[in-house]
Amino acid sequence: MFRAVVDAGAAQLSSRVRDTLLGSKESWTRRMFELAGQLRADGGGPVHDLSLGNPSLEPPTAWRTALVEVLEGEPPGMHRYMTNAGFPEVRAFLAQRESKRYGLGLEAGHVVMTVGAAGAVNVCFRALLDPGDEVMVPAPYFSEYDHYCTNVGASLTPVRSTASFEPDVDAMVAALNERTRVILINSPNNPTGAIYSEDVLRRLADALRAANATRERPILVLEDSPYRDLTYNGADVPSMMRLYEHTALLTSHSKDLGLAGERIGYIALSPKMAGVDTVFRGLAFCNRVLGFVNAPALMQRVLPKVLGTPEGRVDVEVYARRCRTMAAGLRELGFGVPEPRAGFFLFPKLPESLRDDEGGDVALTDALLAKRTIVVPGTAFGVPGYLRLSMATPDEAVQGALAAFREVCG
Ligand code: PLP
Repeated sequence: MFRAVVDAGAAQLSSRVRDTLLGSKESWTRRMFELAGQLRADGGGPVHDLSLGNPSLEPPTAWRTALVEVLEGEPPGMHRYMTNAGFPEVRAFLAQRESKRYGLGLEAGHVVMTVGAAGAVNVCFRALLDPGDEVMVPAPYFSEYDHYCTNVGASLTPVRSTASFEPDVDAMVAALNERTRVILINSPNNPTGAIYSEDVLRRLADALRAANATRERPILVLEDSPYRDLTYNGADVPSMMRLYEHTALLTSHSKDLGLAGERIGYIALSPKMAGVDTVFRGLAFCNRVLGFVNAPALMQRVLPKVLGTPEGRVDVEVYARRCRTMAAGLRELGFGVPEPRAGFFLFPKLPESLRDDEGGDVALTDALLAKRTIVVPGTAFGVPGYLRLSMATPDEAVQGALAAFREVCG
């Protein structure tokens, strides 16, 4: 039905949107979405949906308390437009936090509040990229990046990561060219769950500095890090903010506070970035002209009250437990699964027995579907032979999916 409506109206759409929406790029997401819907509608029992990265934990109580506190007795004018970068006092608070975390001297003028991390990436792209510029990204990567590049006429250059899903610095250096403007990294990573090591990031920083020596302006690093506060056992997340001066950190509270629908995030610029004040102005301008205008006012004001409190984060142990349960179960079946360390995604490698010339992941996805279990094949991320499993799903779905894996692969 949906398909038919879209097809009938195809001529209404711009060619770029038509090609994406009706072309192959959207097909995996759409297929999994439609199949899950069909399965739910058929009434044949529970569906074990491991396809969606929609944070399933409720925001912490501290957030609710802070929200009520902010609303009670507030002065007039708190829900109006503000400066496009966001409330100065909120930016000052976040600047101080980031300074402490990364040993840098950020001030309010280095922070731009955004509509989630997705808004942050789009604002940065619009402010920094000309049509034809290239964004290099270690692959596999969050597939929305393709669309964000298309929005500004830039092109995405994926560079295959190492076997442990760390950036392959040598391959990235070899792929640099005069149009490479931005290196986009995401750690902890969606889809792989990998946390990039300090050693690899340091080598990347050194390589970029060497490349900059012959350029008019430095290559910029955008570090998209919405999972950085969703680590297990206090695992450290090394950052380019400490290692490379031309870095912007992009983050949100969609995952660690479970606020994906409230759309609150920000960009923090390294104060050492070349032309940082002008970059800040460019970002604030793009927040405006992209139509975001400013990040949601109420959510901005809640952040200083909730961040840094002991309860200021979702109970990450729930995701950790589900990831460990699933990882252990899959290892027994011969899958390769590194110890989960952050976030809520697993990216298991299929056992040899299930691999075929195409990787075997699509066939396995279909077999699991027959057991009412929805996963995303690695092929959707350009990495056949793997599956992406989201543990942002109820415990029953994890158990149901494990039973399905045992039936299909046991
Ligand atoms: N970047 C990555 C790597 C993500 O996985 C996501 C969401 O899944 C986003 C950005 C978008 O986050 P937000 O909801 O804060 O816009």
